[in-house]
Amino acid sequence: MVAPIKNFLSVPKTMFGVGAISQLNELLDERRAGSGHIVFFVDHYFKDLEKYNIRVDSGDLFFQVDTSEEPKTVVIDEYTKKIKDSGDLPCAVVAFGGGSVLDVGKAVSIMLTNDGSSSDYQGWDLPKNKPVYKVGIPTVSGTGAEVSRTCVLMGPEKKQGINSNFSLYDQIVLDPNLLETVPTEQAFYTAMDCYIHSVESLCGCYLNDFSKAYAEKALDLTRKRFLGDGTHGDMMIASMFGGNSIVYSEVGVCHAMSYGLSYAFGIHHGEGNVIAFDYLDQYYPDYMEEFREMVKKHNITIRRGLCADLSEEMLEKMIDITLLMEKPLENALGTDWRNIFTRDVIKELYLRM
Ligand code: ZN
Repeated sequence: MVAPIKNFLSVPKTMFGVGAISQLNELLDERRAGSGHIVFFVDHYFKDLEKYNIRVDSGDLFFQVDTSEEPKTVVIDEYTKKIKDSGDLPCAVVAFGGGSVLDVGKAVSIMLTNDGSSSDYQGWDLPKNKPVYKVGIPTVSGTGAEVSRTCVLMGPEKKQGINSNFSLYDQIVLDPNLLETVPTEQAFYTAMDCYIHSVESLCGCYLNDFSKAYAEKALDLTRKRFLGDGTHGDMMIASMFGGNSIVYSEVGVCHAMSYGLSYAFGIHHGEGNVIAFDYLDQYYPDYMEEFREMVKKHNITIRRGLCADLSEEMLEKMIDITLLMEKPLENALGTDWRNIFTRDVIKELYLRM
């Protein structure tokens, strides 16, 4: 049977350039059309939006998002309830922050028009109703969350995304100046997420010319940024391209392992990827030298010895979470992946991390 060809859906509107954020008020005023109110989700790192001349009106709702942990389904449900309890649906949801904040914006925009708990929608193409219009403004680059059709949530049972066309932003604003103040480690881990998206896309059996072009350019730009003279703007485009690449292919072994690490330790996605990638020579041999060169050049100390003392129960749970990543594992290892990437193989890898 020939696999159906994907129908690529991209973010319809993208504004890119230094100072782009100054045009946000105008964009939002069009949505408000006089009476509408807006819900803002802002990374707790950015105390207020006035510094960026972003106007928050008296009827708007403003949430400071704690990004010390990855977004949880219970937190999404709480935000959704607060917004619904406050009155009419907002005319827009604006997310201003890193990948976690962008994911919160996506999930809440969906949950405002779909009943139940956000944990009911972790999976593929589950939401049925059109979400509230949303704007994503990344302040750190690499996750590709600004262009991806997923928002990854930690649920009571699993870490999994709401993978849906409804997760896509309607508008993104990419302003390289917003990356100026990101701490080095965070910028690095997040950027490596993009590097790994590209590697996993290029090494997977789902690869096609469409994904390949995006992944190759994303790799070039990430390299330029971390081994050459690249700019924040380069990394912003890299993130978007890496994200586009996996929309039309898939991630791979590293992401499947990283999800287990995030579940067990609450480690952020980018750092989880970096920790896992360093043990995956067997799967991604052509990229290891370059990856380690970037780690060294930017004085990053990868956390080690995390899993040695874990309970058997937690290890089994992490393996379960890894094995939920069926599409990435098939992409990385082929249709026979279940016989290759066995529970024993996964356990052995985790125990080394
Ligand atoms: Zn990722």
